[in-house]
Amino acid sequence: MTAKTYAIRTFGCQMNEHDSERIAGLLEADGLVPALDADAADVVVLNTCCIRENADNKLYGTLGHLKTAKEQRPGLEIIVSGCLAQNDREELQRRAGHVDVILGTHNVHRAVELLHQSRETGPVLEIWDEALEEAESFPSALAVRREIDYSAWMSIQIGCDNTCTYCIVPAVRGRELSRPFGELVAEVQRLAADGVHEITLLGQNVNSYGRDLTLARREVGGVDDDVLIAGSLWAADDSRRIRPLFADLLTAVSAVEGIERVRFTSPHPKDLRPETIIAMAENDAVCNHLHLPLQSGSDSILTAMHRGYTAERYLEKLAAARAGIEDLAVSTDIIVGFPGESEDDFERTLAVAADAEFDLAYTFIFSPRDGTVAATYADRFVDPDVVSARFKQLHTVTERSALAKHRARIGRVEEVVVEGVSRRNDQMLSSRTRQNKLLHFASATALRPGTRASVLVTDAGAHYLAGELVEVLAAPRHRTRIPVSAG
Ligand code: SAM
Ligand code: SF4
Repeated sequence: MTAKTYAIRTFGCQMNEHDSERIAGLLEADGLVPALDADAADVVVLNTCCIRENADNKLYGTLGHLKTAKEQRPGLEIIVSGCLAQNDREELQRRAGHVDVILGTHNVHRAVELLHQSRETGPVLEIWDEALEEAESFPSALAVRREIDYSAWMSIQIGCDNTCTYCIVPAVRGRELSRPFGELVAEVQRLAADGVHEITLLGQNVNSYGRDLTLARREVGGVDDDVLIAGSLWAADDSRRIRPLFADLLTAVSAVEGIERVRFTSPHPKDLRPETIIAMAENDAVCNHLHLPLQSGSDSILTAMHRGYTAERYLEKLAAARAGIEDLAVSTDIIVGFPGESEDDFERTLAVAADAEFDLAYTFIFSPRDGTVAATYADRFVDPDVVSARFKQLHTVTERSALAKHRARIGRVEEVVVEGVSRRNDQMLSSRTRQNKLLHFASATALRPGTRASVLVTDAGAHYLAGELVEVLAAPRHRTRIPVSAG
């Protein structure tokens, strides 16, 4: 019998990408195989995002196309999961009667069971209001079908306990829950044994990782009564207050044999602690890249956003990170047009962005999200034309510093990991530097994704570097997958 096929479309951030890997793992464990042609898939999963406006417009557009497809192919099964499903369940049900399964952010592990149930009972909606503390709540803890063999994401915490007034994440992802320390280290060991050499730790505020862990959930290992408890960086601290464990985690993950690159996203500037900077500097495996979301350069807007730092404090933290970590690249997120943002507020954002000399800035136009505090500030919404002019101005400033940062690397030899053939030019390979920069280079021999090499940088743009291969340093350790074909 021919295996059923599936296709997953992911909207949104790396957390969602990671949830999608997990849904793929569950579907494959149920006997499905990836569809070679997504339009012909038997099961289509839309893993949604509601952080910014265009994500929901895109979802409803895609659902419209799928309605027509289902009229032509009634066997087509549709699953909608993720943040928008969690937040917008009634609207989704109203607008998408042709969807077989709607599930939220806390019950991703139920995807296949719910699909089976829908075959018996018709459309199913199951949303949990809270995550369980058990392993299933964490996307990494279940069978995962990783897209990339040499690199893996790992959720170290879910949810967020902050209250940024523009942000829907706490409502859709729930309260902050850290995954037990020992489980994370054990998972990295398993991944490394499987040939993974790059790990990206995921969380909404990774600095606060471990704050909620009881002693039992901080266990790292040990023999008999000699149990090791994470938190060694605090052994000398006699205040015995519960401390976050992110720096310890960075150290423990970096120490796993075979792990050469450790990345993470995102730390919150208010919680970026000195020991994290030390752990980044002292562990060679931790990459020289920090994503530190600024959001605004105006203190009054930062207060209205509930961010918990001033522009000056942000710049001090940034300076400490740059002073402590050699050759650090810094990226950021900035929102333009938060309610009440005056010309003066915006000028301050421009000035801080110029001062900070970011390597990369993700800039967003404020989008009122139903259920957030800032969505109720309608009387202070900024005129869309003004916002769009500001957005362009900010883009000019951030592109200028990105270009300068990239040009400064011309003439250097970078250690890269090959990602694959360049999407724009099949004669070139694309790779990542330790600073998370995209570096394209020509190679006479085909190098497999995951290969480590050194490359001389010869050219630069605002979003890329280009160069020439100097030497191959190491071949990837993972096995090459034999492609699975449907039929
Ligand atoms: N937890 C991370 C943090 O605090 O930086 C990131 C959370 S969010 C998934 C990623 C980015 O989306 C935020 O840093 C923010 O810049 C942007 N964002 C979130 N809500 C937004 C909104 N309502 N309008 C525009 N941008 C938004
Ligand atoms: Fe949203 Fe703020 Fe939490 Fe980030 S820290 S997820 S922006 S509430």
